[in-house]
Amino acid sequence: MSLRNKTIAEALREGKQRLRSAGKDAYAVEAELLLEKAVGLNRTALFLRGEEPLSAEAAMQYEGFLAERESGRPTQYILGTWEFMGLPFSVGEGVLIPRGDTEILVETILEKQQTEPLRTILDIGTGSGCIPVSLSHYGKFEYVLAVDISRKALGYATKNAAANHAEISFYESDLFQNVPAQWRGQLDAIVSNPPYIPKEDIAGLMTEVKDFEPINALDGGADGLDFYRAIVAEGRAWLKEGGWLFFEIGYDQGEALRTLLADFGYTEIGIRQDLAGLDRVAFG
Ligand code: GLN
Repeated sequence: MSLRNKTIAEALREGKQRLRSAGKDAYAVEAELLLEKAVGLNRTALFLRGEEPLSAEAAMQYEGFLAERESGRPTQYILGTWEFMGLPFSVGEGVLIPRGDTEILVETILEKQQTEPLRTILDIGTGSGCIPVSLSHYGKFEYVLAVDISRKALGYATKNAAANHAEISFYESDLFQNVPAQWRGQLDAIVSNPPYIPKEDIAGLMTEVKDFEPINALDGGADGLDFYRAIVAEGRAWLKEGGWLFFEIGYDQGEALRTLLADFGYTEIGIRQDLAGLDRVAFG
């Protein structure tokens, strides 16, 4: 089967067919996004011009994209960009793809800002930078700081901040290690969507995730809680009195986080669920 001498509409049909045969659940939307990129048209134009022939160049590109996708590479990496909170983020190997569920974490903080003076915030394990960039875009912060242990991730985060006109101070740092000491006791809030998958569950993740996304963005240690323990414990020293911690958590980690936060003296603890009714955010 070849995409040569096909119309745009025919190529789309074939793309869907191929990704469907490859077992991709979201085959329809993925085939379409990849074709949009290959021909350089947006969704509307793609449909309006469905009867036009696909250029040889676009056919070759689309062929390549479909082959990559069939091999398991995530559509988001093939596209090189993905949306979060309505903003564009560059993504690729070495950085976790921003997830829709993480928007609940950002929204929780933005809501809290309506009633609490949250002016300075630190994001730990920023990855693509999706959290601090969207916070600084939609919120009212004076200082937004973000750290990641991965230089590669910081490359993406820095680029994403610039592209979205967000002013963020980035540091290459293992947790709080390289956060400037002047911020000790000065932060209004700390946020993190840390690696939280229990080590033994990693093998059971989808190919797309476990073979392509960075393991150090997923592995949360034996019970998945290693990073929460570290941040909850050390965070106290970096927060102002009355400062807040906000975490994304796994679907079954709500109770563990409630206990952990309470053990370290945090109060006004809350757990929020996602649209599927599963625990998704913990704060205190
Ligand atoms: N903070 C980034 C995100 O939410 C990366 C998280 C991670 O790599 N665990 O997408």
